[in-house]
Amino acid sequence: MGEVTLSGRVQSFLAAGPQPMWIGGAWVPAADGAVLPSLNPATGEPLCQVASAGTEDVDRAVRAARLAFEDGPWPRLTAAQRSAYLYAIADAIEAHAEELAQVESLDNGKPVTAARQADVRKSIAHFRYYAGWPTKITGDTVPVSVPETFAYTLFQPVGVCGQIIPWNYPLLMAAWKLAPALAAGCTMVLKPAEQTPLSALYLARILEGVDLPPGVINVVTGYGETAGAALASHPDVDKIAFTGSTEVGRLILKAAGDSNLKRVSLELGGKSPNIIFADADLEQASLGAADGIFYNMGQDCTAGSRVFVERAVYDRVGAHLADRAAALRLGPGLDEATEIGPLISQEQLQRVEGYVAQGAREGARRLAGGDRPTDPGLRHGYFARPTVFADVRNDMRIAQEEIFGPVVTVIPFQDVDEAIRLGNQTRYGLAAGVWTRDLRKAHRVAAAMRAGTVWVNSYGSGAVEMPFGGFRESGHGREHGFEGIRLYSEVKSVLMNLAGE
Ligand code: ADP
Repeated sequence: MGEVTLSGRVQSFLAAGPQPMWIGGAWVPAADGAVLPSLNPATGEPLCQVASAGTEDVDRAVRAARLAFEDGPWPRLTAAQRSAYLYAIADAIEAHAEELAQVESLDNGKPVTAARQADVRKSIAHFRYYAGWPTKITGDTVPVSVPETFAYTLFQPVGVCGQIIPWNYPLLMAAWKLAPALAAGCTMVLKPAEQTPLSALYLARILEGVDLPPGVINVVTGYGETAGAALASHPDVDKIAFTGSTEVGRLILKAAGDSNLKRVSLELGGKSPNIIFADADLEQASLGAADGIFYNMGQDCTAGSRVFVERAVYDRVGAHLADRAAALRLGPGLDEATEIGPLISQEQLQRVEGYVAQGAREGARRLAGGDRPTDPGLRHGYFARPTVFADVRNDMRIAQEEIFGPVVTVIPFQDVDEAIRLGNQTRYGLAAGVWTRDLRKAHRVAAAMRAGTVWVNSYGSGAVEMPFGGFRESGHGREHGFEGIRLYSEVKSVLMNLAGE
């Protein structure tokens, strides 16, 4: 345990000066030379600068992706050849796993141990899973009611995809977007968040070694309002895939509608309920609920930010959560002893502190946290101590608005019906958890939750094989599994007349 020594490759990457973008198989700066800094959230210091794309750069990347799609070898490869590329990408990431974990920890702030065990490992698994798909994407032959007709369906790549991703799991979100799109035969322009552009650029360097045809994957770095908006409204982008806030999801949907009605998939915010019944294993449930909100500093769209507890065990679970919150070890991501790192930015820190103050004004009772750590070594980073609020009503702002930070609201309920009713009282619908030993209760709640994923006696595990996405204002569409392939495909019906000669 202790501070990780940065790998030589990562050191020279960071020292290399403004990082160019990966467009059409070449490293290029922004057309106007603009750059933006990426900060280290543990210190507030700049890590390095990256190109800041404008409309012209986005256009260049879209043209490269279009050329690769229309004239390049990519869509014409056999399925087995595409599959081999995806396996090669997974192997290449694996060969550079430690470097990627370090870059991710530095740029995002998360513990390097989490970056290794979760982000990088899951990214590799994601590419391996989708590497198996190209050879298994099949249409149907259909017994149509048209006489003497042979009819079948074809899955074809949707075309040029814009992919806009957030800062909470930068590398993993890139993998979630790139892998299924590659498997389906698309070409793409990936835009990482301006707060965390480094792992996507590092991935592009790694991909250089895999020798994908130029223009299949392009990475543009830049601000959301400029580069992101240019991608969402680009008339030659066939599909936009977005993960981020509900607010920006709305803008993207509008930009898509106002430009060329491009396909849109959205994975947005959440305010997920985690329901603990008195008959649950309370130790396991409290630990799971703490992990469900504090993992990744609560910067997670599935964060279990509303914990509903059956009245009989309300105080006990609240106390467990508060103990866990107080015990979590805060520190810089590169320290292997760190359990939770800083928030992503000053803005995010202020947002979290604003909600903590709001909770107090609304009359919630603070059981833990709510302040910054006193350790002088953490003074300049964006650190907030994990916060637990009890005596929360579900209609308080802290129980209805997505905080995207380590703040949990603990709310009592009387019976199954009330738990379901309160749990579903939200504009979101990404995930839910239920903790009980009673099978009937578990299935009843799982069926009743208006949420895309329900965990029973666990919280937060992700499986690439299982569809993932939201009900209501948590989004459109499902990623993972075959649903991920569907998101990047057009389905064509072919009807062939067999009558005559
Ligand atoms: P957060 O609020 O958590 O920072 P955002 O939804 O703002 O998340 O950001 C997620 C991604 O969306 C980032 O890559 C960001 O640059 C991008 N983005 C932000 N605003 C826009 C916009 N108006 N159009 C397109 N993309 C945007």
